[in-house]
Amino acid sequence: MANKIEVLSEKCTGCSLCVKSCPFGAIVLVDRPEHPKKQKLAVIDVAKCNYCGACVDACKRFGAILMLKEEKQKAVDFALYKDVWVYAEQRHGEVSPVAYELLNEGRKLADKLKTHLCAVLLGDKIENQAQDLILHGADKVYVIDNPLLKEFCDDPYAETLAHLIREEKPEIVIMGATNIGRSFASRVAAKIDTGLTADCTALDVDVSTRNLQQTRPAFGGNIMATILTPRHRPQMATVRHKVFKRATRDTSRKGEIVKKNYDFSKLNPGGLDFMNRAKFLQFVADTTAKVNLSEADIIVSGGRGLGKPEGFKLIEELAETIGGAVGASRASVDSGWIPYSHQVGQTGRTVAPKIYIACGISGQIQHLVGMGSSEVIIAINRDPEAPMMKIATFALEGDLYEIIPWIIKEIKKSRGEIEFVK
Ligand SMILES: Cc1cc2nc3c(=O)[nH]c(=O)nc-3n(C[C@H](O)[C@H](O)[C@H](O)COP(=O)(O)OP(=O)(O)OC[C@H]3O[C@@H](n4cnc5c(N)ncnc54)[C@H](O)[C@@H]3O)c2cc1C
Repeated sequence: MANKIEVLSEKCTGCSLCVKSCPFGAIVLVDRPEHPKKQKLAVIDVAKCNYCGACVDACKRFGAILMLKEEKQKAVDFALYKDVWVYAEQRHGEVSPVAYELLNEGRKLADKLKTHLCAVLLGDKIENQAQDLILHGADKVYVIDNPLLKEFCDDPYAETLAHLIREEKPEIVIMGATNIGRSFASRVAAKIDTGLTADCTALDVDVSTRNLQQTRPAFGGNIMATILTPRHRPQMATVRHKVFKRATRDTSRKGEIVKKNYDFSKLNPGGLDFMNRAKFLQFVADTTAKVNLSEADIIVSGGRGLGKPEGFKLIEELAETIGGAVGASRASVDSGWIPYSHQVGQTGRTVAPKIYIACGISGQIQHLVGMGSSEVIIAINRDPEAPMMKIATFALEGDLYEIIPWIIKEIKKSRGEIEFVK
């Protein structure tokens, strides 16, 4: 049955509540000269309608809009789904750091749900990495070793993971929101007909419903939305590198390694031709990026408060003095003062250094989601009410052009690099 929506002309009063409620501009009022009271009639353009039901709610009083929703999916038997899975992304045979962070969070979710934590490792000759995943919290590691999985390619990877999920039925699958994860997770979710919440900044579970609570910024980062997948399984989410802390290695941990072998010519009706639609030719490393912000222990970031591009010279000087990398707010990147590769935040990098020094950055939510997990936050701002000053471990109120040179001078003095002249 397809989606259907209709206006009951005998009940419609032409009040326009439905027109105002429709976020897609799919409803207009048309004249009805034949109507005894000349009331207008609502008409829905089904090409624009996405069947959200807002108009049905708005018209509750008159009950003039009737909607029948497509019953596409048979009810999923949740009892068949068990375990929390972490996709252990690997590049060139090395498991990515984000996988160890997801194991940390996955462990907490699995413990709350009193279920197992499993890792999934796809690649070629990567079985030797499985034991380390167990030492970092996995109870079980599914390993699929095949030359076709040597380097990441969308089709073979997505077919393989989708097949494994159909076979083993995990209730939760979490993956890194890396370049690979973003492309991969969405394909897998579409193949197994479930939802995916991308770029989560927090995960939790409601133990009574076993629903995964997937929190992420929404509406341009103005609110944090907690998204549920209440009618489908598995529940899938991606999380950026550095959002969670890395799992600690416990050499006493024991676990199971389950090797799977699939006939790749049968995973998709298109056979191996389908799997080989895109071929991996060569890996070319990006040598243009000077900074690896995500891995830096100390970051000194500059914002619009610098007032001019030259302000970054001061930021660089402080970063150099204390062995840190240079970060930036989007406002300073958008002003053309520093390249995008330095941007921290929702549309930039997520970082979690030991020390984050925010200079002339107000601390809007889109910036905070990218650096809020830093261990120590030092804010330098002349506005004590700025949000960054409120969350900072140390808030230094004043002009950054006075405070930063003073800090540099004091550090150099303490190292004996400059002499103090009375
Ligand atoms: C969809 C979307 C995504 C976004 N993604 C990001 C993102 O990834 N990263 C990001 O940073 N932003 C992002 N933003 C933008 C974000 O909303 C803010 O506009 C931005 O972070 C503001 O940057 P700022 O703090 O440098 O500037 P402002 O908000 O203008 O703050 C400047 C601060 O400097 C202080 N100041 C001024 N002069 C001095 C001085 N001499 N000494 C000390 N302090 C001084 C002021 O008191 C003020 O607090 C995004 C926005 C949207 C809508």
